[in-house]
Amino acid sequence: MINFNVPPYIGKEKEYIEEAINNHKICGDGVFTKKCSAWLEEKTNTSKALLTTSCTHATEMAALLCNIQSGDEVIMPSYTFVSTADAFVLRGAKAVFVDIRPDTMNIDEKLIEDAITKKTKAIVPVHYAGVACEMDTIMDIAKHHNLYVIEDAAQGVMSTYKGQALGTIGDYGCYSFHETKNYSMGEGGALLIKDIANAETAEIIREKGTNRSKFFRGQIDKYTWVKAGSSYLPSELNAAYLWAQLSEADTINNDRLSSWNRYYEGFKDLAKEGYIELPFVPEECVHNAHMFYIKTRDLEERTKLIEFLKANEIGAVFHYIPLHSAPAGVKYGRFHGEDKYTTKESERLLRLPMYYGLSVEEQEKVISKVIEFYNNRG
Ligand SMILES: *Cc1c(COP(=O)(O)O)cnc(C)c1O
Repeated sequence: MINFNVPPYIGKEKEYIEEAINNHKICGDGVFTKKCSAWLEEKTNTSKALLTTSCTHATEMAALLCNIQSGDEVIMPSYTFVSTADAFVLRGAKAVFVDIRPDTMNIDEKLIEDAITKKTKAIVPVHYAGVACEMDTIMDIAKHHNLYVIEDAAQGVMSTYKGQALGTIGDYGCYSFHETKNYSMGEGGALLIKDIANAETAEIIREKGTNRSKFFRGQIDKYTWVKAGSSYLPSELNAAYLWAQLSEADTINNDRLSSWNRYYEGFKDLAKEGYIELPFVPEECVHNAHMFYIKTRDLEERTKLIEFLKANEIGAVFHYIPLHSAPAGVKYGRFHGEDKYTTKESERLLRLPMYYGLSVEEQEKVISKVIEFYNNRG
């Protein structure tokens, strides 16, 4: 069986986890957490990175930091994971969904301005497949209308837009280290903060509303409860697993990129003949090979292809029932404008096996089986 995903494992994870155990420090913000956040800050060139228990939680922190309130509106694509909306809906906000661009599957930046009302507080671009949204346009709109920008960069670790790391362009950026992402700690994430002035409040929210982080740095002699917060810091055991991955980030990234390029080459002819469509990466974007997808003609063809691949022991999946058509999306959101591409394109998209360590032989089997499927259909 060729799995759709295998969680990344580089080899040093067990050693580092053992080290954390031997340090007698397994709660949050120990040595490994510090190594990971320092790596993130340096690699992305952002002023502050805080490791969190998930990308969902990083987004919840961003919603708290932006003081999102009941009745506020937040603009985002409908073609995304539930967390993008959940974090804001939890604060009582309404999710305002805007259509996507069919080429990148990202929010269509040209449709955002029309969705802005007096209640709009923030724009949440999602960098689908680690390929950046049109951030210059989005930042201009945000500036003009005085809105926050919170990047859902769950899939975008190691990707850039015009040389800037994803997650560092807006006010806040949210990373995921879930087991399905390029770098993992099982469950986990990070919040990137552009303006250092917001870092202290973020640390307080993350530490149950206390100024404990300041206390640990020796800046105050006792810590206390200073505002409403929660517990968003991951255990050192998880951070130790992540550190093994981040210290080999280039190895993982290069491996994924070669797989991505091998798929792209392998499917070129099928695409040229018009059977499928391949992903598009705009010139100003450097991506991280988070996923490889193809687009079939329609839903029916995709269902048949999934079945065919499954019969050949290949795991291929689709995802994201557009949020505006989900029960909670109907309740907590609204679609602004026409759903020209969100539903239609989401029904055509199929993700192929993609993970660190996927072998050339396995990939060649996937490629040849997809080609065989289309040859049989004629
Ligand atoms: C994975 C993912 C998330 C959620 O990440 P968690 O770390 O599991 O909370 C959010 N948004 C997008 C686009 C994702 O792909």
